[in-house]
Amino acid sequence: MNRVHNFGAGPAQLPIEVLQSAAQEFLDYKGLGLSILELGHRSSEFEEVLASAKERLIRLLNIPEDYDILFLQGGATLLFAGIPLNLLHYKAGYLISGNFSNKAYLEATKYGNAEILANSKDQDFREVPSLDSCPQDLDYVHICQNNTIYGTQYHRLPTTGDVPLIADVSSCFLSAPMDISKYGAIYAGVQKNAGPAGLSITVIKKSLVKKAQDICPTYLDFGLQLKQNSMLNTPNTWAIYLTNKVFEWIENAGGLAQMEMRNREKSQLLYDFLDESQLFSARAKPSSRSIANVVFSTGSEELDAEVIAEAKKENIVGIQGHRLIGGMRASCYNAVPKSSVLALRDLLYQFEKNKR
Ligand code: PMP
Repeated sequence: MNRVHNFGAGPAQLPIEVLQSAAQEFLDYKGLGLSILELGHRSSEFEEVLASAKERLIRLLNIPEDYDILFLQGGATLLFAGIPLNLLHYKAGYLISGNFSNKAYLEATKYGNAEILANSKDQDFREVPSLDSCPQDLDYVHICQNNTIYGTQYHRLPTTGDVPLIADVSSCFLSAPMDISKYGAIYAGVQKNAGPAGLSITVIKKSLVKKAQDICPTYLDFGLQLKQNSMLNTPNTWAIYLTNKVFEWIENAGGLAQMEMRNREKSQLLYDFLDESQLFSARAKPSSRSIANVVFSTGSEELDAEVIAEAKKENIVGIQGHRLIGGMRASCYNAVPKSSVLALRDLLYQFEKNKR
């Protein structure tokens, strides 16, 4: 089997063991004579899958008892609306660190009073904005913790006092341990570090789940969904099943501390190379560099295109930068092995050498 070196930003590489295990039981799930795709969501077998996913997630993230978990469809984008529809009653504050945090902010303005507290647009989003002082009359403060497009990340969370911090953690979910008690809620589309597209996971403090806004669609009403165990309607059974397998893979690999060690090592290999290089440079300021998404370029569109084409010949794919900023991006999520990162680094090294 010819597996490529896949640096895609999402949907991203999944652990081969997970794919193999799913393939093995694809046609006949647990001797039931049907595929998991054909299994009813109210069956005891599927309820077992959902319960197992929940238990594993609680263990992995060490989720305190006063938090609940939601498994919803619609990706992080639907939660851009879900958060204000459930939590915004007076005013919310948003930190703008890139495209997705801005989308979240714009969505919130449709449903209430949302204001921008800090913005790093003037810095070309090469760093995350800091919050010098936080107004205390807010329902919540929203951040995007890892900025997939610009390759930046909060290494220290903003201080919000008594105001709950809500974080879009789509591209850093389960890539390292995190202290859930510091957040009012975290949410993520799982298609980067933890599963296939079509599923989002929200971990939310129970006390924040109150009455949703009257216009909130039934599907997005967190209180209703929690009462129904994320099964108010048919959930994405396939994505939950596969994500549960990824959780198991992470546990078997040593948990989130192990993921963090591997991920830091992988991105550091690339950043070290980029810092030495005369041709390539990393986009983000060192203090804000993302562990997950290493964004870089030569500074020339033509050369970048050449690199991407050369990489493809070596089975290195998914390194094209986001269309908003061009350049290149290597996403070093959990399932990307160090050997792929070394292959990419060698290619960049050779490319530069050949240009001298
Ligand atoms: N937030 C971040 C940080 C993302 O990277 C993405 C997708 N790349 C989104 C939100 C949007 O997620 P989805 O496609 O799951 O709606």
